[in-house]
Amino acid sequence: MRILLVEDDPMIGDAIQRALSDASYAADWVKDGPSGLAALDTHPYDLVLLDLGLPGKDGLEVLDILRARNNPVPLLILTARDSLDARLRGLDGGADDYLLKPFAMAELLARMRAVLRRKGGNALPLLGNGVVSLDLVSKQASTADQPGIPLSSREFALLQALLIRPGAILSRSELEDRLYGWGNEVESNAIEFLIHALRRKLGSHVIKNVRGLGWMVSKNA
Ligand code: CA
Repeated sequence: MRILLVEDDPMIGDAIQRALSDASYAADWVKDGPSGLAALDTHPYDLVLLDLGLPGKDGLEVLDILRARNNPVPLLILTARDSLDARLRGLDGGADDYLLKPFAMAELLARMRAVLRRKGGNALPLLGNGVVSLDLVSKQASTADQPGIPLSSREFALLQALLIRPGAILSRSELEDRLYGWGNEVESNAIEFLIHALRRKLGSHVIKNVRGLGWMVSKNA
């Protein structure tokens, strides 16, 4: 999953980016409102973490512009403002949740999972298609033959990207976009290598190759 972090405080931004990467998210970090909007124009993000007090355009302006463009990306506000008014304006303006600074990284990650679940119409911290399921908290996969299969963080991110929309074909470049942020060197066969590793762990039927187009997991059985 690829996350956009819009935060101008270097210490907070750095801590969040590290926590996201430890939790297997690809995270891009920008430090002002206009850069946030530009990033959202050019990349598909699974979730946005948006600070409110930002140079250029503040977070509420960024949110207004984003929703006026009909961009439905899940969005969590991070705010040090103790103003109830700003938080309410954010929620009414289309934010999915907010978190008051300072917060524990574990809480940020749990809120992100909750927002992603709600947006996906899924109340359980679990993705699945009847063939394979993925526990978003323990990061283990389960098949009919084998429960609790441990995955590396990139394997987890790749399977998650496919299981968010079973039946949808994702190309190599779409998968690279979801797995790697800016500044991550992507080796040319990295995706094929991860698919191979996942098939070895889960069984070769779990991820299907659609020749010339990409990969998919089958729609809910
Ligand atoms: Ca700020």
